[in-house]
Amino acid sequence: MQHIAFIGLGNMGAPMARNLLRAQYSVSVFDLSAAAVAALSGAGARAAATAADAVKQADIVITMLPGNEHVRALYLDSGGVLDAAPARALLIDCSTIAADVAREVAGAAAARGFAMLDAPVSGGTAGAAAGTLTFIVGGDADALERARALLGAMGKTIFHAGGAGAGQVAKICNNMLLGVLMAGTAEALNLGVANGLDPKVLSDIMSKSSGRNWALELYNPWPGVMEGAPASRAYSGGFGSALMLKDLGLARQAAAGVQAPTPLGSLAHELYRQHQQDGYGQQDFSSIVKLFQARIRA
Ligand code: NAD
Repeated sequence: MQHIAFIGLGNMGAPMARNLLRAQYSVSVFDLSAAAVAALSGAGARAAATAADAVKQADIVITMLPGNEHVRALYLDSGGVLDAAPARALLIDCSTIAADVAREVAGAAAARGFAMLDAPVSGGTAGAAAGTLTFIVGGDADALERARALLGAMGKTIFHAGGAGAGQVAKICNNMLLGVLMAGTAEALNLGVANGLDPKVLSDIMSKSSGRNWALELYNPWPGVMEGAPASRAYSGGFGSALMLKDLGLARQAAAGVQAPTPLGSLAHELYRQHQQDGYGQQDFSSIVKLFQARIRA
C-alpha cells in the first residue's frame, strides 16, 4: 500500500487528507498547528512531529500551504522535504503559489532525483470536503499518471496544463477572474439592496439572467441568501480574503512579467488590499461585500 505524507492541514488540507483516509490510504500528517494534527490523528492518520518525520517513509508527499515562502522553506531549507523524503517519493504541491517559485522548487527537486508536480486546486472548501476538487496540474505526464489515482480520491477533474509551473499559471488566471467576479457580484448586490431590492430576489433574478456566475450562484456573498455559504456563517472558514489578495498579487506579477494588460485584475487587487486594511483578511473572500456596504452607510 502507498504511504502518503500530507503537510498543511488548514481549511483545504484537512478535508483533503480526510478523503485520503476514507479511501484507505495510509497517511502521515504534519501542520504547525498541533490542533490540526490532532484532529486528523483522531480520524486515523499518523501524527508526525515534524515535516521531516512525516515524509521519511512516503511514496507520495502532498503539501497544501498558504504561499510562496512556506512552500520554498518547507522543500528547500536544510532538513526540509528534499533532504528528508526517500528518493522514490513523488512530490505534489497543491498550494497556490507563483509559477516561477513552483519551477524553482521543481527544478531543485529534479536536481535531487525527485519527480514533482504543481497541482493547485479549484472548488473551495466544499469541493475539498466532498472530494470533488479540480486539480490543475503542471509537470511531467508520467509523474501525473503516478499521481492520478491519489488525486482521484480528493477530486473529480484533473487537467494537465503543461510542464512545471503551468498548473500555477492556469490557477492564477482562474483566481484573478474569480476575484473580479466576486467583487462585481458584491457591487451589483449592494447596488440593488441600496435601491430597495431583496438580496435573495435579486440573486434569483441575476442567476437566471446574463449576469449569472459562480460567485453569485454557488458562493453568494450576501448574508442569509444562501444556506451553507460562508456569508451565512459570518464569513468563517472558506477561502480567506488574505489568500485572494495573495492570488491577485500573483496574477499582477505574472502580468507584469509579460506585459499583459490586466486592468480589472489590478482593480480587484486594490479592492482586496483595501479590504485587508479594513481588518477582514481572515474572513472569507466573499466578505468583500462589506467594502461596498460600508461605503454607502458612510
Ligand atoms: P489555511 O491558511 O487554512 O491553511 C494553511 C495551513 O498550512 C495552516 O494550517 C498552517 O498552519 C499550515 N502551515 C503553514 N506553514 C506550514 C509549515 N511550514 N509546515 C506545516 N504546516 C504549515 O489555507 P487554505 O485555505 O487551506 O489554503 C491553502 C492553499 O490552497 C493556499 O495556497 C490557497 O490559496 C489555496 N486554495 C484555497 C482554497 C480555499 O477555498 N480555501 C481554494 C483553492 C486553493
